[in-house]
Amino acid sequence: MTTTVSEPIAARATAIRREIHRHPELGFEETNTQAIVERELDAIGVEHRRIAKTGVVGIVRGAHPGHVSGLRADMDALPITEDSGEECTSQIAGKMHACGHDSHTAMLLGAARVLQESRESFHGTAVLLFQPAEEGPGGALPMIEEGALDDPHVEAVTMLHIDPRVPTGSIGITPGPVNAAADEFHITIRGKGGHGAYPHKAVDVIPCVGATILALQNVAARETDPLASIVVTIGTIEAGYRNNVIADKAFMTGTLRTHDAAIRETAAEKIRRIVEHVAEAYGAHAHVEMLLGYPPVVNDRELAASFAAYAREQGFTVERPAPTMGGEDFAYFAERVPGVMVRLGIYNEAVGSIHSGHSPQFRLDEGAIPTGIATLVAFARGVGDGSIPIPAR
Ligand SMILES: [Zn+2]
Ligand SMILES: [Zn+2]
Repeated sequence: MTTTVSEPIAARATAIRREIHRHPELGFEETNTQAIVERELDAIGVEHRRIAKTGVVGIVRGAHPGHVSGLRADMDALPITEDSGEECTSQIAGKMHACGHDSHTAMLLGAARVLQESRESFHGTAVLLFQPAEEGPGGALPMIEEGALDDPHVEAVTMLHIDPRVPTGSIGITPGPVNAAADEFHITIRGKGGHGAYPHKAVDVIPCVGATILALQNVAARETDPLASIVVTIGTIEAGYRNNVIADKAFMTGTLRTHDAAIRETAAEKIRRIVEHVAEAYGAHAHVEMLLGYPPVVNDRELAASFAAYAREQGFTVERPAPTMGGEDFAYFAERVPGVMVRLGIYNEAVGSIHSGHSPQFRLDEGAIPTGIATLVAFARGVGDGSIPIPAR
């Protein structure tokens, strides 16, 4: 076992990453990326099928019996115009692989090749889960509903996500919740319009909006255990017509991020209570609509611990980065079977790999690609031969 991969495999994965990077595709439009995945799997003789419109499931069967692992890579890009200065910069205005999903797909193809070429010493089966639309509306759930984890039955699942908090060459494995539930809320406040000079004859929603935003800070600041994780953000406000007209309605949107199911549920109730009663205090009327997003990603504690120990044994440098409040629909896979999300270090000042994902300046240190491939291979081999035990559920 090794923590890196051969030069030709790393070079091929890097070339594929650049090819995908030049042609970014948004959620459920990944037809070109899907074709690249199929082309590469055909080239190495790995069986595959289409799933969830633009997704692909591939299967590498080891020569020896063993357990079934799932390796997941997302494929979609973001609606951002690239300003990274990378040589393989996006050829499509308004679309960019700013979250590293191009590299996730390329690294899974690299891992598929390593496993396929070493089938004679591979115990078990690796199910390759090439997933569309992670950035929205979500491809994990449709893949699961179409049987991605069923035939053969996946017993433990992993994924890589590039992470500029971790240096290139290292990986990060953290047990428990690592990404947040990402829920959305819409607030509509209704008052009574009128002349800006005669406020007493109207119900002005503008001061009500201000009071609502301030009062909502109480959900995190005063009403949630300070040791728990929560974010309440108002992202947009729309209200008003002109300087001398009293606004009769306002519309706001926000995001609620939590790690814990109970806190997620009670926070939604707190938002509703505060918004409705502040409006009442101002003589207005408010309505809150909660739109549930991805659940939190919870790394199986046993699986995370045993994979981290196994990876260290193999010579990987394994860190334990803090959880984040970002969202990830890998959550659905990890709800169905024991799962562990691995952070792949890409921080490298020398190549400008320092920006956070979703930034137009985001650059990826391709030096991380061999480590990423080796990590996926280690998981498949470790789960396959029982070195990484499948936790009971
Ligand atoms: Zn992203
Ligand atoms: Zn991402």
